[in-house]
Amino acid sequence: MKALLVYPEFPDTYWSFKHALPFEGKRSAYPPLGLLTISSLLPPHWKKRLVDMNVRRLTGADLEWADVALVSGMLVQKHGLAEILTRCRQRGLRTVLGGPVTSSVQDLNVLADHVVIGEAEELVPTLAAELEQGTAKPVYEAAERPGLDKTPLPDLDLINPKYYSAMAVQYSRGCPFNCEFCDIIKIYGRKPRTKSPEQMVAELEQLYARGWRGSVFIVDDNFIGNKKNVKQLLPVLAEWNERRRYPFTFFTEASVNLADDAELLRWMQKAGFTRVFLGIETPVEASLLEAQKYQNTKKDLLASVRRIQGYGMEVMAGFIVGFDNDPPDVFDKQVEFIRESGIPLAMVGLLLALPGTQLYQRLKREGRLLQDGLGNNMDCTLNFVPRMDAQRLIAGYKSILQRIYHPDEYYDRVRRFLAEYRPTHHRRRSFSDYLALARSMVKQGVLGEARASYWKFFLDAAIRYRHAFDTAITLAIMGYHFQTLTGIVCRSD
Ligand code: SF4
Repeated sequence: MKALLVYPEFPDTYWSFKHALPFEGKRSAYPPLGLLTISSLLPPHWKKRLVDMNVRRLTGADLEWADVALVSGMLVQKHGLAEILTRCRQRGLRTVLGGPVTSSVQDLNVLADHVVIGEAEELVPTLAAELEQGTAKPVYEAAERPGLDKTPLPDLDLINPKYYSAMAVQYSRGCPFNCEFCDIIKIYGRKPRTKSPEQMVAELEQLYARGWRGSVFIVDDNFIGNKKNVKQLLPVLAEWNERRRYPFTFFTEASVNLADDAELLRWMQKAGFTRVFLGIETPVEASLLEAQKYQNTKKDLLASVRRIQGYGMEVMAGFIVGFDNDPPDVFDKQVEFIRESGIPLAMVGLLLALPGTQLYQRLKREGRLLQDGLGNNMDCTLNFVPRMDAQRLIAGYKSILQRIYHPDEYYDRVRRFLAEYRPTHHRRRSFSDYLALARSMVKQGVLGEARASYWKFFLDAAIRYRHAFDTAITLAIMGYHFQTLTGIVCRSD
C-alpha cells in the first residue's frame, strides 16, 4: 500500500509565525508530529509520503501515486482539511481523517471514507490491516486513552528538518485543571499521561542523529500536568543536554502554578528551557473564577511571571477577552498587565466557545450560542452572544492589539524583559542566524515603516542588552510577525 499523509496549511494566526519564518529562511514553525507518529504505526512494508502543505503544495502527482490518503489536523485547520478531502474524493482516492479535529466536530466526516476518533495508537494497526483487505469500517473510535508507552518514535524520514524553525516532541497528554473554555481536557482527559524519561531521551537522540541543532518544542498543553513525573524527567534531560554540550533549547507550555515550584524552575533552567507559554487569560479575578481557572486566582500573576523570567525563561502568554465578568475597562487592564509583565509575545484572543467544552454547553443552555466556531480566536467573529455589546467587545479587542503591538510599545516591553533577563544557555550561532540578522536589518531597519524605533532598539540591544543580543534580535523578528498580523486583523471588518 502507498499511503499519502497530508497536513493542511495553518491559517495566519499568532501561532503560525508565518511573517517571521522568512527571516530564518524557514517554511513552517514545526513539523506535523501527529502524522509522523502515525507513519511509525503503519506496517513497515507500506510506502509512505508526507505532504505538509505549510512546506509544499499537494500535487496531482501525489494523489495519483497514493492508494490511500491519511489526513489529519486541528479544528483551526478545518477549511484546509475539507479542501484536501474533497480533492481526494474527486480523484477517487480513499481517505482516512484523524487528528484532534475528529474529537471536536463531526461535519467533516461525510467527506472522508474512514474516520479515526480519539488517540490512534491502538487503532492504526487494525485500520491498516483492514484497509489492505478492503474491509475497513467507516469509523474507528478509541475505547480508552492509551498510555504513552505505546507511542513510537516519530518517523523523521518523512521530513526535511531544514524547512522547520523548531522540531517537535511530545512528553504528555492531558491536564489536571478544568478551565471552562478548554477543549484539551475533553480531547486528552484530565489525567495527564506521560512518556518515560528513556522514551524522551530516545526522541532527542533521534533528532540529534538527524543533525538537528537548535530549538525543540515540547508540544504538551501543560508540560507540568504531572509534576511527579516531570521531576523525574528533568534531571535526565539536563544530563543529556549537558553531556551533548547543549545542542537543544526547549520551549513548552505550562500552567501558571509553575511559578510556585522552585525545584521545577531550577531543573527546567538546568535542562535548557528558554521559553515557556503560560495561559494567563486575564488579570480580572472575577473572570478567572467564571472560567474555572482557579490555579490563576488568589495570586500575584505579575510576580509569578517575573519569578519564571528570573530563571532565564522568556514568558510568552495567552490572554482572552469576552468573559461575562469582564468589566468595561478590561481592555485597559489587559494592556497595563501586558506592559508591566514584560511579556513580549502576548497572544490575545477573543473568547471562543469550542465544541464539546463546558463553556459551549453552558452557552447552549443559556441560548447564547451562535455557531460552532473554527478555533481561530483572532478572526474577530464571536460564536456566542457576549454580555458586553459585541461591537464594543471587538473594537476593544482590536484596540488591545493595536496598543500592545505598536512598535514603540512593543520594543519598550522587550526592553523591560531584557533588563532583568539573564540567559543561562547561549546557543552557538549558525550561518542562518547571521542571515536572519541581515534580513532583519534590511526588512525592518531599511524598508520597515517603524525603522526609527527599530534602530533605537537595535542600539540598545547591542549596548545595554548585549548579554542577550541574540534574544533581542529574535524578539525584534517575532515582533515583525505580531505587528504584521495585528495590522491585518485590525483592518478586517
Ligand atoms: S490549564 Fe490550560 S490545558 Fe489545562 S485545562 Fe486550563 S486551559 Fe486547558
